[in-house]
Amino acid sequence: MFDFFKRKCEQPIEEAAKLKTALLELDKITKMLVKRDLALYDSKEKLTIEKGKMDAAINSLTDGLIIINLEQKIILINSKAENILNLKNGILIGKTLSEFIDLPYIKELYEILTKTEGHCRDKKCELVLKKPAEEIFEMQTTPVITQSQETIGTLIILHDITREKLINKMKSEFVTIAAHQLRTPLTGIKWTLEMILNEDEGQINQEQKELLSKAYKSNERMIKLINSLLIVSNLEEGRFIYKLSEIQIEDLIQEIIENFEVQIKNKNIECILNKPEKYLSKVKVDLEKIQMTLENLIDNAIKYTPQKGKIIISLKEENKEIKISVKDSGMGISKQDQEKLFTKFFRSEKALKTETDGSGLGLFIVKNIIEAHKGKIWVESEEKKGSIFYFTLPII
Ligand code: ADP
Repeated sequence: MFDFFKRKCEQPIEEAAKLKTALLELDKITKMLVKRDLALYDSKEKLTIEKGKMDAAINSLTDGLIIINLEQKIILINSKAENILNLKNGILIGKTLSEFIDLPYIKELYEILTKTEGHCRDKKCELVLKKPAEEIFEMQTTPVITQSQETIGTLIILHDITREKLINKMKSEFVTIAAHQLRTPLTGIKWTLEMILNEDEGQINQEQKELLSKAYKSNERMIKLINSLLIVSNLEEGRFIYKLSEIQIEDLIQEIIENFEVQIKNKNIECILNKPEKYLSKVKVDLEKIQMTLENLIDNAIKYTPQKGKIIISLKEENKEIKISVKDSGMGISKQDQEKLFTKFFRSEKALKTETDGSGLGLFIVKNIIEAHKGKIWVESEEKKGSIFYFTLPII
């Protein structure tokens, strides 16, 4: 009986103890949850602040910036890009460019993007907007790649080059006018010197002849430089006209080599033309410009190769193109110089010391000509061993 009463009295005490433990546990959990909530709130706040900072940075960029995802939807556009394209704030977000094709500037942007095949590749092109004054932008498209190397979209950067273009145009026009003005008196000097050297106006002694010959050569160099400057201005202003015709390139090369016979003999150079037994496919080119290209490469090969050197010109047909190479055993070009080789006025230190005749414009012109023919040009070279200049021309 006593045990029964004892058990009856102890039961509520046990229950109360259990309840107390449970309450303590609940209190602990509540505190933990409040703490986690506060931390979450804190990180959300931090994220909002960071996003704000990022938005401010993107919107203060002086370049226009757009990101398009793989479904062609715009996921980011900064204020500068909206200004350039005359758009209302955020109107493009989540939409595709094709939905706004009727808007004038979107049309130009869309056309360039769709023209550059597979626009998830690094590309640089020009976007010209008539507003009504012309505004020119350098447009660079780059793929957006995640850390796991997955391409998730395209980044477009629009950089205003209107002023730069205008200055370049003015510079180019100045060079054209100056060159034209200089050409006439230089041609006059050429004819006068030729007459004196031919003794049309009376006899001259050997010493006078040598002095006048030097003056004649310098004058010729100036005429050559003026002509190159005119070609460069025409190229830069898009006034370099290409008249296409079908030609058999090996015949043209043979002819050019024959024209260099005197220079080749004077330097005791062995010159070989390596052409396949069978005729190559014809190429559709501007004869005068390709002639200019080959003359420049062969002239350089002779100029920068010492006495008793060797030049090999080879032709090959592969992958629907003709590949031409001009190999010499000359001074070669350092790796550092190879990077600047096709830029305007570049001449290596060594070339400046050993070969005074040259303007550094030839390879710049050659590169522009080859690229206008949808071909490629490159060089392989080692100092003191020689160089190989390659270029390709697509077969028609
Ligand atoms: P130029 O020959 O009138 O200086 P180019 O534009 O034809 O101008 O060549 C630029 C420079 O490239 C040359 O001054 C020379 O330094 C280098 N170069 C060109 N061709 C060769 C070559 N075959 N071998 C070594 N250097 C070369």
